[in-house]
Amino acid sequence: MLDEYRQKRNFKRTSEPKGQKVKKEKGQLIFVVHEHHAKNLHWDFRLVMDGVLKSWAIPKGPPTKPGEKRLAIQVEDHPLEYADFEGRIPKSQYGAGEVKIWDHGGYELISKKPETIELILHGRRLHGEYILFHPQKFEAKSWLLLKKKQL
Ligand code: MN
Repeated sequence: MLDEYRQKRNFKRTSEPKGQKVKKEKGQLIFVVHEHHAKNLHWDFRLVMDGVLKSWAIPKGPPTKPGEKRLAIQVEDHPLEYADFEGRIPKSQYGAGEVKIWDHGGYELISKKPETIELILHGRRLHGEYILFHPQKFEAKSWLLLKKKQL
């Protein structure tokens, strides 16, 4: 699952983790959001799922207000160790630029279907019920991240 991640990177040049063989998933579910100052600033939303970090790039940043939604482009799976990564990816390397942790915390998985992943996030900036939504009519990698309205 990390083949694409590894193919894109030269680990002699970048300090990003190469990723260990996937061990059995630990109990704790965490998420992390990286603020990534690449050629185009974006935020990478990552969830521990299936032994990797499932990842989405969000050009405008994750929604923080109830009812807000943002386009989230699914990108390659990242290794679990990436959750702690901060640093500067060198020029000429894939994703060159500074990477900082913008938020992180635990999450609860409410439901997971091919088109919809419902979550409760327990971060400092992202808190409460969120939905990752991937309608069939969307392009393959295009999702929406929505912060649910409070009832
Ligand atoms: Mn990125």
